[in-house]
Parts: sequence; C-alpha cells; structure tokens
Amino acid sequence: MSRPELTEWLSGLGEPAEVGSLRARQLYHWLYVRGETAPSRMTTLPRHLRELLEEHADLARPIVVAEQTAHDGTRKWLLRFRDGREVETVFIPEDDRAALCVSTQVGCSLSCKFCHTGTMRLARNLKAGEILAQILVARDRLNDWPSARNDRRVTNIVVMGMGEPLLNYREVAAAFRIVVDGEGIGISRRRVTLSTSGVVPRIADWGRDLGTGLAISLHAVRDDLRDELVPINRKWPIAELLEACRRYPAPRPITFEYVMLRGINDSDADARELVRLLRGLKAKVNLIPFNPWPGAPYRCSEPGRIRAFAAIVEAGGYPSPVRAPRGRDILAACGQLKTTVEQRRRRAPVSSSHDPTEPIAHLSAT
Ligand code: SAH
Ligand code: SF4
Repeated sequence: MSRPELTEWLSGLGEPAEVGSLRARQLYHWLYVRGETAPSRMTTLPRHLRELLEEHADLARPIVVAEQTAHDGTRKWLLRFRDGREVETVFIPEDDRAALCVSTQVGCSLSCKFCHTGTMRLARNLKAGEILAQILVARDRLNDWPSARNDRRVTNIVVMGMGEPLLNYREVAAAFRIVVDGEGIGISRRRVTLSTSGVVPRIADWGRDLGTGLAISLHAVRDDLRDELVPINRKWPIAELLEACRRYPAPRPITFEYVMLRGINDSDADARELVRLLRGLKAKVNLIPFNPWPGAPYRCSEPGRIRAFAAIVEAGGYPSPVRAPRGRDILAACGQLKTTVEQRRRRAPVSSSHDPTEPIAHLSAT
C-alpha cells in the first residue's frame, strides 16, 4: 500500500482522520524503510493501533522455498505466494553495487523463442505487494535493513525477471512508486531499470509515471527475424519501438539488449544495421551471450564472433559491453528463470521469512 492507501485503510479501521495521515506515514516507514513485519515492534505506534494491526493486517512475507548461491556470488530465491504460485528473484553483486532482478508475472504470455520463462504459460500477474515483497525478502536474507549496516547491499533494481512488466502495468507502476519514493524503499529512479520486449504504448506511460532507466529487448535488426524471436514484434515492429525510445524521457542512455545467437543474429551485417537503427539515440548495447536451458533451440555465438560484433557497434559510437553471464550454474542467468510444479513438489520449504535470522539450507548448485 502507498501512503494514501494506508491512510484510507486506517480510517476504515476507525482511526480518526486527524491522526490518520501521521499514522500512515509512521506505518509506511516501518514497512518499507525498516522492513518490520511484527506490529508489536512498531514502537512509534500507539498500542491500540498495534493491536488493530495484529488483528487486521497481514504483513507476512512470501515463503522462501529455496535459496541458492552460485559460485560467483549470485543468489536466487524461489518464493511462494499464498495461492501456491511461485516466482524467482535474483541478487547480482558486483564490485561497487548490487542489483536485484525482480519478477512481475508468474510465467509470461509472450513466448520469445530463446527464453526459458517464455516456455511457461502466463499463470497470473503479480500484485504490487508481491513485487515489493521480493525486495523485502532480499533485504531480509541479506541482512540489508538500516539498523544492520550503513552501506546498503541492494543498490539497484532491474525489472528483468520473469514476465513482461509492461503487460502488468498497474501493479508494476504501483510497486515502483514506492520503490523510488525516498520515504519508501528509497532507490532512485536512476538506479532502476525496466526491461521490456516492446509493449510500445506503455513505454510512454512508464516514462510519464516513473521515468526510470529503460532497457529494450531488441535481439534482431530486421522485422522478419524479430517477428520470429520476439513475437510481440508482429504487433509493434522495430520502427515503432525505436520511435517510442526516441520520445522516452530517459535519465541515462537506453540499453538495447541483444542476445547473441549463433548463426542467427550475430553477423557483421547485423551489427552494422544495428548501428544504423540506433543513429540519433542516446544508447548503449548490451550483448548477452545466450544462456542455454534444457531443450533450447539455439546455441550461443562463439566468443570471437561476439567480440567482432561488439567492435563494429563500438566503432559506430555505441558502448557495447558483453554482459557477463551471472549465476548460470544455478540457472539464474538471463532467460533461465522458470518455476515448475515438479520443482515445487520436490522441495519442502526451507524457510518462512517470518524469522529472517533462522538459518536456511543451501541447496547444492547443480
Ligand atoms: N520480459 C522482459 C524482461 C525479462 S527478460 C523482456 O523481455 O525484456 C530479461 C532479458 O533476458 C531480456 O532481454 C531477454 O530477452 C533476455 N533473455 C531471455 N532469454 C535469454 C537467454 N536464454 N539468454 C540470454 N538472455 C535471455
Ligand atoms: Fe517474456 Fe521477456 Fe522471456 Fe520474452 S524474453 S518470453 S517477454 S520474459
């Protein structure tokens, strides 16, 4: 809930209007700045309100069904919500910052051909609270609340987990208003990046409502190939997508994600065409080595091919770092997230994050 929603909810519980907005503010602070889940510990609230919360509020986190840590320090959590649906959230530490990759849907309706999540059906959209809960659980598990230490561990958020965020616009926007609010989760919009496969009309909406960093899953420079790899291209082709990018009020250059598929989209001619398409845009190209998953119909381009492709894009004036695959050994890398009913049956919950201090079993990284 946002502050206005909390105010309204409190008034529904009979809190007098004169104190409602102050109480909402205090509660908002406990929830998002302190990460508190026990009303009894919300010491700035009067006792009657703590009791009301005990009775009427559900502050429980989703269940942490599994936690895995990769050799490179990447961590992945499988979270289960009240209805039994599950998503994955990935923590990606780097030298001077760390990103949390959050999911926005259970599955995805778009079936991009190279994406593991795309082989799942869309089960449902996540609610704003379930999107925020991924951040809260990560902070619990990483001991990343302000009382614990001063330098925060989760410094950036990337909306690049399971699902297409712009097809769950209302809930994703509601969650991120709280994320970027300095009195809420407090991660600035410059440190948030939303990745979309190209839901063109929603790009402008997101620019107006949140204006975070933007990443576009481009992956092909011709419509015939992009129609096949990223089927939403049939509805909004490359030219329209790039037009929306040109109008986007980006706080920093837009990232174009380009998955390197051997013999499919990785030729010199593709690289030159990419440079031509981006002309006039403030952009950066993120080359993503294809991450394999069981049954995937593609292979990753050879390292030499990726370097040659990157050199052409760089010479054209666009930085084109190759994204180091992170957490591949635990299937946590781009496009590898997928939860299945079979996984769920095999695994008993290892923790409910009601008690974040409780030790948690680490599954072996296989
Ligand atoms: N649905 C959104 C966000 C999630 S996907 C989107 O498509 O942008 C995050 C990124 O991982 C996207 O750029 C996606 O195209 C890429 N990706 C998907 N499968 C991949 C794979 N197997 N290897 C590498 N990158 C992949
Ligand atoms: Fe969905 Fe993104 Fe995967 Fe495409 S790449 S299937 S939009 S999650």
